[in-house]
Amino acid sequence: MPINKPEKLDKPESCDNVKVVVRCRPLNEREKATGYKMAVNVDEMRGTITVHKTDSSNEPPKTFTFDTVFGPESKQLDVYNLTARPIIDSVLEGYNGTIFAYGQTGTGKTFTMEGVRAVPELRGIIPNSFAHIFGHIAKAEGDTRFLVRVSYLEIYNEEVRDLLGKDQTQRLEVKERPDVGVYIKDLSAYVVNNADDMDRIMTLGHKNRSVGATNMNEHSSRSHAIFTITIECSEKGVDGNMHVRMGKLHLVDLAGSERQAKTGATGQRLKEATKINLSLSTLGNVISALVDGKSTHVPYRNSKLTRLLQDSLGGNSKTMMCANIGPADYNYDETISTLRYANRAKNIKNKARINEDPKDALLRQFQKEIEELKKKLEEGEEISGSETSDSEEEDEDDDGEIGEDGEKRKKRRGKKKVSPDKMVEMQAKIEEERKALETKLDMEEEERNKARAELEKREKDLLKAQQEHQSLLEKLSALEKKVIVGGVDLLAKAEEQEKLLEESNMELEERRKRAEQLRKELEEKEQERLDIEEKYTSLQEEAQGKTKKLKKVWTMLMAAKSEMADLQQEHQREIEGLLENIRQLSRELRLQMLIIDNFIPQDYQEMIENYVHWNEDIGEWQLKCVAYTGNNMRKQTPVLDKKEKDLTLKKA
Ligand code: ADP
Ligand code: MG
Repeated sequence: MPINKPEKLDKPESCDNVKVVVRCRPLNEREKATGYKMAVNVDEMRGTITVHKTDSSNEPPKTFTFDTVFGPESKQLDVYNLTARPIIDSVLEGYNGTIFAYGQTGTGKTFTMEGVRAVPELRGIIPNSFAHIFGHIAKAEGDTRFLVRVSYLEIYNEEVRDLLGKDQTQRLEVKERPDVGVYIKDLSAYVVNNADDMDRIMTLGHKNRSVGATNMNEHSSRSHAIFTITIECSEKGVDGNMHVRMGKLHLVDLAGSERQAKTGATGQRLKEATKINLSLSTLGNVISALVDGKSTHVPYRNSKLTRLLQDSLGGNSKTMMCANIGPADYNYDETISTLRYANRAKNIKNKARINEDPKDALLRQFQKEIEELKKKLEEGEEISGSETSDSEEEDEDDDGEIGEDGEKRKKRRGKKKVSPDKMVEMQAKIEEERKALETKLDMEEEERNKARAELEKREKDLLKAQQEHQSLLEKLSALEKKVIVGGVDLLAKAEEQEKLLEESNMELEERRKRAEQLRKELEEKEQERLDIEEKYTSLQEEAQGKTKKLKKVWTMLMAAKSEMADLQQEHQREIEGLLENIRQLSRELRLQMLIIDNFIPQDYQEMIENYVHWNEDIGEWQLKCVAYTGNNMRKQTPVLDKKEKDLTLKKA
């Protein structure tokens, strides 16, 4: 994005709202066969979505405006170029980026994020972003180095599973460190060298997603999948030093939004739904708190998803949300609910900045290791017992040891570094000496054997050094393979995809220009029409005009009223759910208080309360003075039952 460039130089932090786009899928065969009608009208030019009731109720249609909207005919490549491309470009510059797909199950979240990988035109945002990333690397300057890593995880019932991990029964912990922020302990990350690697990784992730799921549809509609691509890039800065920039891209396929907003789900059912998807409801609460303007507390910590994606909402990230909706009238309520949600998300303000030289960058570490290995290889291998007549460096400890045989030629069995060239030379020399030895006639057998053994030992040492050298070479090549050099074409089979994307982007640019032109003309015409209407020639006309206006204002008022009624209903449901939650929690609390009061003496309770405090950063109770726990306490006082203690800690 060239417009951003000059601004970026003196003001690296950019304030952007979360971009929200809406995509409406086409009616599917089943819906057509059943005879469902379209309830959604998409105006791509104006960026509006209008939803109307198809029954005889005279409820006015509802219209929403977004950054970009996509109708049922939209193409995957256009969706990519219009929405994801600018974000991936930013990530390549070192910004964080996030793309969410939100919506009811069956509306096209997975289709938008992944698409049909086998058909180039139907590929979704994730595969296209890889073609884009490796296309960018292929065009980069030759002195730029890249490191691309991916990880893939799933959140189901507030449990985090590594979709690329070896052990699929393992659940991972969310942790936090002041220097790198929130992260997942032991999450595997794969270094990717080309777009084909990515394909394999996605296949593996998919296979693991279905592991242990009894009903795959239900599982995927209740779980959140986060595909993360980390791109590190190192370049020489203006100060002459190498700098690493790191962009992290989260591609999030959220759980289906339906249960949460399901009409009439109150009390127990709503509570169940909230429990099943605490992450999704917390996401909603986080968005509300962020756009409310009055909230001082944003409940990021209340769920795994919002903790992990804290930066993406109201933080350091360029974020886009794609709200997916279905077109049919039977989805009316869900569609409205999704559009409202998306409408609120538009107001989230983020502050993205380029991540320069971050603490968790691997590229610098890899490059350092490569440098060290290269240096080591250049210096050569240490060979003990080799001739040192021409050596400059020597180990002190075994210096000066003289051969016992008292041979005239003094040999020092020091260690010295030998370059690969020299090793070849040494090999040749050993051969030569061996030949000489065998042809030498004036030699005692004993002496000859000794000399033979000596030669053999030298040969063995040499071989060992050569092997070590080889293993270092292999290590180097493995490391070097991970780091991608700018300008090298690694697209392989994805080259076509990149071309496809580029072409479609160019075409899109043209279309965009034309659409802009048309939009302007349209606006002008509308303005003209208004002007004409304003010029009344008679009182009657004026009256007519005013009646018309009045009617329009009246429909607007009605629309607003019905909107308000809807919202009130929705709030009412939410409040009921929350009240039920509170009731349930107070019951649990009373029970626990009862247990504590009956099993733990009052003064112990006070003591525990005095010595624990809530650590907001890690979300746990901590003992203030560890000296007052365990063995130290046991000396003076009877031991608290561990279970009771845990209970008290949790409760306090
Ligand atoms: P979700 O992930 O939101 O539950 P899916 O992406 O699985 O929904 O989509 C449901 C079905 O609809 C799939 O068969 C998918 O291929 C189809 N579909 C979704 N969006 C579109 C679209 N824009 N064009 C054509 N088919 C679509
Ligand atoms: Mg899905």
